Amino acid sequence: MTIRWGAVLALVCLGCSPALAQTQIERGFRTFLADEIWPEARAAGVSRRTFDAAFDGVKPNTKLPDLQLPGDEAKVEETSRQAEFQSPSAYFDEAKMGVTAAKGRGLLGQYAGVLKQIEARYGVPGPIVVAIWGRESGFGSAKIPYDAFEVLGTKAYLSRRKEMFRAELIAALRIVEDGDLTPAQMKSSWAGALGQPQFMPTKFRKLAVDFDGDGRRDIWNSVPDTLASIANYLRQSGWQPGRDWGFEAKVPASVSCTLEGPDQGRPIADFAKAGVARVSGRPFPAGEMRATGHLLMPAGRFGPAFVATPNFYTIKEYNNSDLYALFIGHLADRMGGAGPFAGEWRKVSGLTRGDVGRLQEKLVARGYDVGRPDGLAGFKTRRSIGAYQEKAGQPATCWPTKELAASVR
Ligand code: CA
Repeated sequence: MTIRWGAVLALVCLGCSPALAQTQIERGFRTFLADEIWPEARAAGVSRRTFDAAFDGVKPNTKLPDLQLPGDEAKVEETSRQAEFQSPSAYFDEAKMGVTAAKGRGLLGQYAGVLKQIEARYGVPGPIVVAIWGRESGFGSAKIPYDAFEVLGTKAYLSRRKEMFRAELIAALRIVEDGDLTPAQMKSSWAGALGQPQFMPTKFRKLAVDFDGDGRRDIWNSVPDTLASIANYLRQSGWQPGRDWGFEAKVPASVSCTLEGPDQGRPIADFAKAGVARVSGRPFPAGEMRATGHLLMPAGRFGPAFVATPNFYTIKEYNNSDLYALFIGHLADRMGGAGPFAGEWRKVSGLTRGDVGRLQEKLVARGYDVGRPDGLAGFKTRRSIGAYQEKAGQPATCWPTKELAASVR
């Protein structure tokens, strides 16, 4: 891979005019396709005809986000470190949530028949499927305007995650080879995700399904194919039929926020016994009481808390973010008539991602596990902050603040 990168650097003349630099990137891209992608595609069973059709007229699109053009490395790193460390409140806009839930509720009614068949086949409830549809493409209303080969080709050549996009590019070629779609039908987002459920090509090949029975897996135009493909994705990722995704809960101070995480599951009855209660005042359903739950506190003690089921972590297989999965679960509940979060997302940080990254590095030096020190506060970082606070004799908040960042040496 270093060879390809070297070729890019050698071809781009940093002092040249932008037009000349563009010409050189295009020339390098053609060489890359011919020397590296074609042999790999051929070995994967892609015909020359498919390959040529897919890249006919395709040029690298240097205006796409998240590219790393030669000389950009330091700049990208610096921009990300200066970015504000965001409180989860930014993710949950109540006005938008209400509008999206109302739209979703209408669609639940409109597609009730097909959603019932989908739940019977895959075990995933309609509101969860429709919530993902809403989040990924505004229930199919979002434009999916890019040529997938332009996006994936450019990213395999110039992005920060070349290997990942290279595998996706080969998978996209295989989709055309298999006859599912023509190159012109392969429309994607700027990130290379396909159709209304926004599947990357490797996921399309494994998980997309033809549910309307026309013989084609058409996640661009067919609502039944789109919804069933989302349900199949979740089921294949481990969705447990009959279980909820989770419940907003009050967590008393006597239950430590360091107990959070997918690796610290216990019967929900144990949480209930320790004083964790649903905000609705209703008891946890009897079936859930006996089954495994997990403490989830996406903003530590500065926001709503939840008892999540394993299905919450299955939603994360769709998009690996606690906030994404919570958005989906909450939106599904809202479509069913539930109200807003009872807890308040408080804005407390005032930190940059660089500040949080430095805090993480200090915690690592003290032997704590924070996952990757990336300037974000995932569950490992949150509970390690709590463990540090408890050891220092402070009340555990499990969330980075200015005061905490200053106090950790
Ligand atoms: Ca179909």
